[in-house]
Amino acid sequence: MTSPSTHVLHRTLSHTYPVAVWGEGITIRDSEGRAYIDASGGAAVSCLGHGHPEVGAAMKRQIDALSYAHTSFFTTEVAERLAAHLVDRAPQGISHAYFVSGGSEAMEAALKMARQYFVETGEPQRRVFVARRQSYHGNTLGALAVGGNEWRRAQFAPLLVDAHHVSPTYAYRNRRADETLEAYGARLAAELEETLLRVGPDSVIGFVAETVGGATAGALEPPPGYFARVREICDRHGVLLILDEVMCGMGRTGTLHACEQEGVAPDLMAIAKGMGGGYAPIGATLVSERIVGAFQAGSGLFQHGHTYLGHAVACAAALAVQTVIERDGLLANVRAMGAAMREDLVARFGAHRHVGDIRGRGLFQAIELVADRGTKEPFDPARKLHARIKREAMARGLMVYPMGGTIDGRRGDHVLLAPPYIVSRADVTEIVDRLGAAVDAALAE
Ligand code: PLP
Repeated sequence: MTSPSTHVLHRTLSHTYPVAVWGEGITIRDSEGRAYIDASGGAAVSCLGHGHPEVGAAMKRQIDALSYAHTSFFTTEVAERLAAHLVDRAPQGISHAYFVSGGSEAMEAALKMARQYFVETGEPQRRVFVARRQSYHGNTLGALAVGGNEWRRAQFAPLLVDAHHVSPTYAYRNRRADETLEAYGARLAAELEETLLRVGPDSVIGFVAETVGGATAGALEPPPGYFARVREICDRHGVLLILDEVMCGMGRTGTLHACEQEGVAPDLMAIAKGMGGGYAPIGATLVSERIVGAFQAGSGLFQHGHTYLGHAVACAAALAVQTVIERDGLLANVRAMGAAMREDLVARFGAHRHVGDIRGRGLFQAIELVADRGTKEPFDPARKLHARIKREAMARGLMVYPMGGTIDGRRGDHVLLAPPYIVSRADVTEIVDRLGAAVDAALAE
């Protein structure tokens, strides 16, 4: 356990955190010898598991050659190779990668690129973003402003730029009984268009969305056809489509990019988490030719920058992670083990009186907890069921990613699962078994 006299400002000041000392495969060990199955990849980060020797070796080689060279003086071979690797496999139209140190920075850069695009192309009156409720795009001020997580936003509201929020894709709660999934998706897309028309479409810079919703409401899947309509609407009104695949991307849902399954390509896309798998802090904004072309024809630069852009060791880590995922065919395992996880979740929770929904794609799935399955009434938020489940899971050697505020930032509880892509069938069984025990223990408290 950490010393009570810690000088680290931890996330929760009253909590004593175990000290993580060792990671191997899907397991993390603490200083007291306890082992935890990492069934959430931390926060959907550790896609290759912990301690992969090839990633470590690639990072060491890069450190021995060169750790850091500021991007205003140099490019590096490793950044060039990583960009080429990503662009080769990116959605149509993506031509460049801008390397940052995480998801919030990737989103922040995407928002600024989108704004600068319209300044360069003679539409400086475009000044607001439209995004969705129950979303998360990062904790820096720009990303927080477009995010729709009420709890995270509330106390910082005076510092946040204006953004308009439309409904999330949350079929379990918001699809009408007489509506097909397709019709529900069409209704949500129509709401986006109505919002653009109300705000004044020529004042909107972009529509921002997680392709599959992540931490805030737990693996919210887009209904079929929704993103195709969204793409059309954005095009009709000259609005950029900015996808946030920081959590759901880089293989987590079974394809490298979640938007591949929707048949759409964004103008800008943020990636992070699974990109470097936790071996180094890295993220990227993937940029379309259209935007790079406007910068080229205009000011000739993107007016932004951080000290650690394109950090060579982080790039080496990400390139190694991506190379191993591809070489070892791990996305096939994500699809197979994702199906197995769904099977086990349905077997364990499908008839559970306090589990209302099981949802998600690939190794990115969630259960939503309810007091009453019939009415979908959530538990009293004061009970903090999500925190109890996390505690009970940790006590059983299991890391999962529970969150409260699933419905509206205040009510509702869910548990997100996002294990590394290397999980075996036996691992999946163990994860769901331990989660079942943790949920029942938390409910019994
Ligand atoms: N976007 C999404 C969808 C995320 O899930 C997150 C983090 O959870 C972020 C952005 C922010 O990323 P980071 O925490 O690396 O800044």
